[in-house]
Amino acid sequence: MEQQQSISIRLFNSYSISSINFFHVSGDYTIYGDSVRLFDADDLSFISVLKSGDSVFLRMPNYERKFRFVRFVPHTSFSSFKLKSVHPDYKARTYDDELLISAQSKTLQLFNKVNIEKYVAGVVQWEVGTNNPQEFNKVKTIVCRTYALGNWRRHEFEGFQLCDEVHCQVFKGKTFNQNIRDAAIETTEYILVDDSARIITAAFHSNCGGQTMNSEDVWSKSVSSLRSINDTFCMRKANASWEKKIPKDLWLDYVGTKYGCPVRDSTFVKKVLNFDQPNRQIYLLNDNYFIPLKFVREDMKLKSTFFTIKEDGENVVFCGKGFGHGVGLCQEGALRMAEKGYSYTKIINYYYTHIHLIRFSQMDFFKTD
Ligand SMILES: [Zn+2]
Ligand SMILES: [Zn+2]
Repeated sequence: MEQQQSISIRLFNSYSISSINFFHVSGDYTIYGDSVRLFDADDLSFISVLKSGDSVFLRMPNYERKFRFVRFVPHTSFSSFKLKSVHPDYKARTYDDELLISAQSKTLQLFNKVNIEKYVAGVVQWEVGTNNPQEFNKVKTIVCRTYALGNWRRHEFEGFQLCDEVHCQVFKGKTFNQNIRDAAIETTEYILVDDSARIITAAFHSNCGGQTMNSEDVWSKSVSSLRSINDTFCMRKANASWEKKIPKDLWLDYVGTKYGCPVRDSTFVKKVLNFDQPNRQIYLLNDNYFIPLKFVREDMKLKSTFFTIKEDGENVVFCGKGFGHGVGLCQEGALRMAEKGYSYTKIINYYYTHIHLIRFSQMDFFKTD
């Protein structure tokens, strides 16, 4: 039998929830209060769960009891439930598999112990929607799975593995899209590792503008899987180019104030008002004054560091390519490759270098102590 691996996700991670309703959707559940079997939830419409100090208060018609924690344990691999936060009022979300609820001073704590493939499919739907070519869906499931397992220990000291927010990966419940579910099943357990069999940082961004970045040019650490490549696939996509105009005074004031540049020196001024970047650079200036492009991007709120600057009357115009940090997989390029019929392995090997696709069960990954 195929080994099923689960991952513990904290739901509604940074929310303070005092009351939630559990709706049984499919497959049977048994409910445990402090490890004691209470009853089965097969034909119950819903169960109210409320926070009461550090306890969990379970309430149904003719039933009210307090526990330290409550578990909803599925009987089947297709068991699913819906959660509706009542206080505060949030839209209901549907999840697969097991639910554990405890309480601390400010909130109910909800943990979904979910099969990793179902989790990955939910994340992919949230990230890229449901209308993409299947090879692209497969690429995304592998990237999301690699990211999840690479960050497996992030919340270890808090007693779970990943949160459901952008800090880990956004997870708002199960996907009902069959293509995405199939993509997760067809790539089951596949993750990306480097030549030393270490899980890679599966970085991705929206559009590289025609050239990706080396990891050390953005994050200081050089890794073999994240090397700069020339990308011919993303150039006609939505985020391939952009433009931003800002007043010349503001720009000169910025380089003068932040980097101590001589903004009254005409030779210098010419340099910062007219900057060309045919291939990706790291610095706007790298002589007497260091102006890293990544800081200019942050401070000027630009879509990428891959831009040229031109003087235009009282303004300077930033003409840029791409969107995002530019490291690793270029999402719009990968999408274009999939549209043109490239396989997911071709796409992955185009953007990540010196990598191998392996099944995580081959790594003894879960046998940590
Ligand atoms: Zn997190
Ligand atoms: Zn690209």
